[in-house]
Amino acid sequence: MAQVAIRDVSKDFGAVKVLHGVSVDIPDGAFVVLVGPSGCGKSTLLRMVAGLESVSGGTIAIGERTVNNLPPAKRDIAMVFQNYALYPHKTVAQNMAFALKLRKTEPKIIAERVRKAAEILDLTPYLGRYPRQLSGGQRQRVAMGRAIVRDPQVFLFDEPLSNLDAKLRVQMRTEIKELHQRLRTTTIYVTHDQVEAMTMADKIVVMQAGRIEQIGAPLDLFDRPANIFVAGFIGSPA
Ligand code: ADP
Ligand code: MG
Repeated sequence: MAQVAIRDVSKDFGAVKVLHGVSVDIPDGAFVVLVGPSGCGKSTLLRMVAGLESVSGGTIAIGERTVNNLPPAKRDIAMVFQNYALYPHKTVAQNMAFALKLRKTEPKIIAERVRKAAEILDLTPYLGRYPRQLSGGQRQRVAMGRAIVRDPQVFLFDEPLSNLDAKLRVQMRTEIKELHQRLRTTTIYVTHDQVEAMTMADKIVVMQAGRIEQIGAPLDLFDRPANIFVAGFIGSPA
């Protein structure tokens, strides 16, 4: 049973078709990477799973539920974006607690979840600081902390590292993978960077122009690319 089942999903923006019936199963606990060139529809697909875009055709299920018509807040997902905006006038702890407060979670539970997330992300010494007092990597970890405290069934990442410098990007890849090994939360991770995909994924979904070209483990794609597009994309330097 897939934790997230994307079945024959299409998306039209007016007369423009950006997704042409894509199907992917994301198994419970897996780390699946959607990769492909800019404009191929990765973010649109992720936003549909999040409930931020409507589904033009097909179905998306999370766990046992078809979620096509569920608002984002009812989907039990948490998303980390590229341009994560932290609240500048809230501390690290307040930034992490905010979504839970909105959901009227008990203060004791909020405090415990923030404490645990900070421990996992090595942010404990920084809980009282403001975003401007943090490094880029620490800010990125706070953004992840905001997702973790919600204890969702599914994490959605949309190019979370693309605003970081090259060295930090490599370090954060490792941190995100370690986080996944620890929490085992089902993850869909979007990137246009094939090296990121190859190093992070259990399973890679290669997309081009609104279609899926191939789905497979990193080594499968490397050893047995389905076509010239996949071979060229996976084989080319980042
Ligand atoms: P990716 O994340 O792979 O770079 P996107 O999912 O952002 O690609 O975009 C896929 C295509 O859909 C692009 O051609 C983009 O211009 C188009 N698109 C995305 N959002 C909208 C929108 N709200 N209205 C019209 N076209 C859109
Ligand atoms: Mg995108």
